[in-house]
Amino acid sequence: MVTGSIILLLLALFILYNIISSIRTVVKWYFGDYINTQLLMARIDPLYKEPLRKYNSYYQRLNASDKVIFEKRVQKFINKKQFIARGMNRVTDEMKALIAGAAIQLTFGHPSVYLEHFRRILVYPDGYYSQISKRYHKGEVNMAGLIVLSWKNFVKGQADYEDGRNLGLHEMAHALRLENIITNEEYRFLDKQAVNSWNKLALKEMKKTEEESSGFFRSYATTNSQEFFAVAVENFFEKSQEFHEKHPKLYGALVTMLNQDPMKIGK
Ligand SMILES: [Zn+2]
Repeated sequence: MVTGSIILLLLALFILYNIISSIRTVVKWYFGDYINTQLLMARIDPLYKEPLRKYNSYYQRLNASDKVIFEKRVQKFINKKQFIARGMNRVTDEMKALIAGAAIQLTFGHPSVYLEHFRRILVYPDGYYSQISKRYHKGEVNMAGLIVLSWKNFVKGQADYEDGRNLGLHEMAHALRLENIITNEEYRFLDKQAVNSWNKLALKEMKKTEEESSGFFRSYATTNSQEFFAVAVENFFEKSQEFHEKHPKLYGALVTMLNQDPMKIGK
């Protein structure tokens, strides 16, 4: 009799455990993005909101509810990263907000991506000399988990939002492609088919850009496939219309990869 009750109790516990697990899975599946972007996130510190409002053209164009999501994600990005000043006293709140803004702009279609592998962000006041390449750099991303930016060039890229040049987006784009192939919780979040189609189209376009000097992408894009991607991302956001008209397939592949279309922002 006692053994029978224990078996029944264990069975009931087993069924209960499975029901709870199933509910958790369903909630995570259907509401995961909502939980990640809204429920569990703190509101932005006003110190960080002000620079976004003043200088981030992408943020300015978002509708009211997307603005709140963007702000919360900027705050979370700042909390996750270590900002390190080089050649200057400190990384200011404004610098942190705008650098985080570039990362969140690029990953806005991927609510749970925070470029986890890249924990440290180094900021130099201007171009810096690299001992490895023996030349001056404006920015770089390396596999050790570093994103390096020169503030002067970052601001220049952000100030003119129509010239197809944006250092912040460029370096974040390098980090994004690497993050996608590094085995961690953010592994392979980019649509595989879109990445394959991008790679094929990009190779063709790189050849064409090399031959014609007057193409849509600046010649630096032909350096290698990573640079082509980073330059394309700059144009995707800053010259969306022209990019879409001249290279609809490449543009379409980026829309799928980044899960957003800059031409539809705020509409
Ligand atoms: Zn680059």
